[in-house]
Amino acid sequence: MSIPFVRDYDFEYGRCDQLSPMVQRVVADNPGPFTYTGTGVFIIGDVNVAVIDPGPTTPAHVAALEKALEGRAVTHVLVTHHHIDHSPMAQPLAEAHGCKVYGYGLQPRPPQGGEVRLEAGDDLTFKPDVEIRDGEIIEGDGWTIEAIHTPGHTSNHLCYDLREENTLFSGDHIMGWSTSVVSPPDGDMGDYLNSLRRVYDRHFNILRPTHGPAITDVDVFVKAYLDHRLAREAQIANALKSGLNSIFDIVSDLYAEIDKRLHPAAAHSVLSHLIHMRQEGRVKADGPDGLKQEYFLTEDGKKGAA
Ligand SMILES: [Zn+2]
Repeated sequence: MSIPFVRDYDFEYGRCDQLSPMVQRVVADNPGPFTYTGTGVFIIGDVNVAVIDPGPTTPAHVAALEKALEGRAVTHVLVTHHHIDHSPMAQPLAEAHGCKVYGYGLQPRPPQGGEVRLEAGDDLTFKPDVEIRDGEIIEGDGWTIEAIHTPGHTSNHLCYDLREENTLFSGDHIMGWSTSVVSPPDGDMGDYLNSLRRVYDRHFNILRPTHGPAITDVDVFVKAYLDHRLAREAQIANALKSGLNSIFDIVSDLYAEIDKRLHPAAAHSVLSHLIHMRQEGRVKADGPDGLKQEYFLTEDGKKGAA
């Protein structure tokens, strides 16, 4: 089954929209290939609020955020992960309101250099005042949020569960408009699949990703998102079986239909699958994992691909 993507939604840059009794959103004017229409900044609560992923520090966005928060106090700034479309405004906003920034903290696996740039980019200055971990509860004025550690897109990615509305702020972990980028070494496909299963198991009413519209048919969507990755893995196993052993040959075969400019990103996605399959013993290679490595099925691999 293909993923039932949702891409249409009503928004205007800088406008503050009431999305539910407890949730408002301001969309930043930073559209792009990784941000879709821009960063959706969520405001939780009424007078004393939490802000999730305050976004970039562009003047128009800063002004829009100021206007949306006029007469209110931000008591908590929550960050899903350290990418530049999510976290740069976190510290300035917290300082302006005299509150703290909450997030997982630095990446457990920092970049080693030489990676192909597949994302909007890292915010290397990001450092939360309060490091939070899986299952931690943050309480504010009339709202309760649980942090859920969802590594995969990045190793330090957190989603936030607004208990009162059974709503998950899913960051870049699950997005309605697109699949998520999972690029090694910080991105990890094994972690990613587990993090998808964790979200599925909690049966949320609604997912509110940072980019694009909400996902309302949650279980169907997350199941399809997961199945898509598992189907891709089966295709990779078949390609290996047919004698395609280099990542670039596999990409040319599996992604023949897509724009060649997207092939480097696809190569990273295939690599993340192969690393995961190797960890599970379904695939082998003679040296360290990487884009130039050749991969082969092990005997168990044939079983795994079935
Ligand atoms: Zn990101």
